[in-house]
Amino acid sequence: MKTIGLIGGMSWESTALYYRIINRAVGERLGALHSARLLLLSVDFEDVVQGQRRGDWDGLGAQLAGAARRLQDAGADCVLIGTNTMHRVADAVRDAVDVPLLHIADATAAAIGRAGCRRVALLGTRYTMEQPFYVAHLARQGIDCVVPHDDDRELVHRLIFDELCRGVVAPSARARLQGVVARQPARGVDGVVLGCTELPLALQAADVAAPLFDTTELHALAAVDFALRGVPALDSLPVSMAS
Ligand code: GLU
Repeated sequence: MKTIGLIGGMSWESTALYYRIINRAVGERLGALHSARLLLLSVDFEDVVQGQRRGDWDGLGAQLAGAARRLQDAGADCVLIGTNTMHRVADAVRDAVDVPLLHIADATAAAIGRAGCRRVALLGTRYTMEQPFYVAHLARQGIDCVVPHDDDRELVHRLIFDELCRGVVAPSARARLQGVVARQPARGVDGVVLGCTELPLALQAADVAAPLFDTTELHALAAVDFALRGVPALDSLPVSMAS
């Protein structure tokens, strides 16, 4: 099994989801008491938020590039940035290490393609919905994104930073997100991307009619696929070898 390197803490509420999904998937695939080999470097999210507000993407890129190098030096075989928004600086992170960066939008695009969808509504922070880095990444893989109108972008952005990143999951959060989804064009949109790693705290597949692409889960499972490539499931081995 390879070692997963996760740059987390953006926010730690979603990093906790990554940790649970990755370990659970490794346990399910290998059986027995297997869990992931994982290195976590968790940043102070307030520093990141301040950098985002200043538009200091170069500074944030340098910070996350340094984090990726530390994970590589500690033995990580791959690096994940555990947030959609901070893929704004994915190139800087990728260039800083020799091990692969597993890009969250690649995992998402692959799932959208498998589902046969072509045009999706994208929910995330204002940075993710309004700057080109994420939409363009999906477009290069043949997927069109529709983003909510300005009021709804503000609603989702505020929900992420004022509530979900602070661990507040109000009963009304799901209904507010369902409202945003319902206001997307009825025709031509064949899926919804939860393009923020905290959004699955408030909205799940059963809450919307269209296929829902949970980027946290898809990214975490891509890491598990990477880590277990070529590793046989323990439960598939003869009992004498499995002990
Ligand atoms: N975790 C969020 C995302 O996936 C937002 C926090 C951040 O700004 O990184 O975009």
